[in-house]
Amino acid sequence: MNTATRKYIELDERYGAHNYHPLPVVLERGKGVFVWDVEGRRYFDMLSSYSALNQGHGHPRIVAAAKKQVGKLALTSRAFHNTLMGAFLKRICELTGQDMALPMNSGAEAVETAIKAMRQWGYLRKGIAANRAEIIVCRGNFHGRTTTIVGFSSDPDSSGNFGPATPGFVTVNYGSLEDLEAAITANTCGFLVEPIQGEAGVLVPPEGYLAKARQLCADRKVLFCADEIQTGLGRTGRLFAVDHEAVKPDLIILGKALSGGLYPISAVAASSEVLGLFRPGTHGSTFGGNPLASAIGLAALDVIVREKLPANAAKQGEYFRRRLKEMRHPLVVDIRGKGLLTGLEFRIPTRPLCEKLMERGVLAKDSHEMTIRFAPPLTITRSQLDSALRAIRTALS
Ligand SMILES: *Cc1c(COP(=O)(O)O)cnc(C)c1O
Repeated sequence: MNTATRKYIELDERYGAHNYHPLPVVLERGKGVFVWDVEGRRYFDMLSSYSALNQGHGHPRIVAAAKKQVGKLALTSRAFHNTLMGAFLKRICELTGQDMALPMNSGAEAVETAIKAMRQWGYLRKGIAANRAEIIVCRGNFHGRTTTIVGFSSDPDSSGNFGPATPGFVTVNYGSLEDLEAAITANTCGFLVEPIQGEAGVLVPPEGYLAKARQLCADRKVLFCADEIQTGLGRTGRLFAVDHEAVKPDLIILGKALSGGLYPISAVAASSEVLGLFRPGTHGSTFGGNPLASAIGLAALDVIVREKLPANAAKQGEYFRRRLKEMRHPLVVDIRGKGLLTGLEFRIPTRPLCEKLMERGVLAKDSHEMTIRFAPPLTITRSQLDSALRAIRTALS
């Protein structure tokens, strides 16, 4: 670590709250699948900012859209209309097959929006008595960091000192249909689920789980809400991870790659039966749906579709896991995932391994102590993947 690197890290540690434990690398430039640190070293970005960079760093089409809009009109608030929000939301609806979308900024805000939408539907459409609505969530979930969301997290670090928890959430085991069925009551308005649990260590549920859970929800008049903030927009080899089981959720939550990493953009898309219940004054966001975000979001979606990123994720992801398996590493207990979302689970804590990977020019992070998540930009080519695999093999040997 040279003095420049040390200087930046010291500044962060002195003035920033220590709510993260980053690897000791200071990045200053990015292009496609690569980032460069302040010492001029190049790395493969195999985290992609938790899948916000599916389109790669600084994608020229998205950057051009941002540059074009930023000096023209960036923010209107929702007190007025703008020329871009409608087109952006229309595109989200076309791609998700939903009727309407509600734009927010961070992923957690979109999750909060979905929670409000499901509760509101529960009261106005299902006839649940005031303040009795329940939402079923899964053990090991990660849906963001707001007070309500951490209140139903099963990770003690997330929820520990931040109580009291918001009532109205019931936790079931991820992947268990029996649990889900048993948890549904007359007061259940929704089931909130990640198609693959990314933060919990890239946990893939049993095949058929999502389709059957979706059917169960329909039968019992419960809204099925997929949090696709991390798994959506091509990451798992389909446009949405629910597509693997031909599931159309009642609500779908998007974020992260919805901007290609240039801006915080999130949205909830759903039927008009659900989102149509919001009235002026019942929900909002100063920045949600602003023209700059809408221009960036439109370009970000366009890149995913035009460049067929889901298909590339499917192809390269399968190859990547096959090559990882061929390594037959003695400390590896499991290799799992879909598309370019891969979890490599070890017998040992993986932080030191991530530091070794960093020394070899590969940036990846532990997701849950014993698992390394590999999630490169979906633009990655076979030869780039081969070169990353060589570095991974050297680092882990
Ligand atoms: C990242 C993430 C969120 C939260 O998004 P933020 O933009 O960090 O608020 C919610 N759900 C899932 C599945 C995520 O991966």
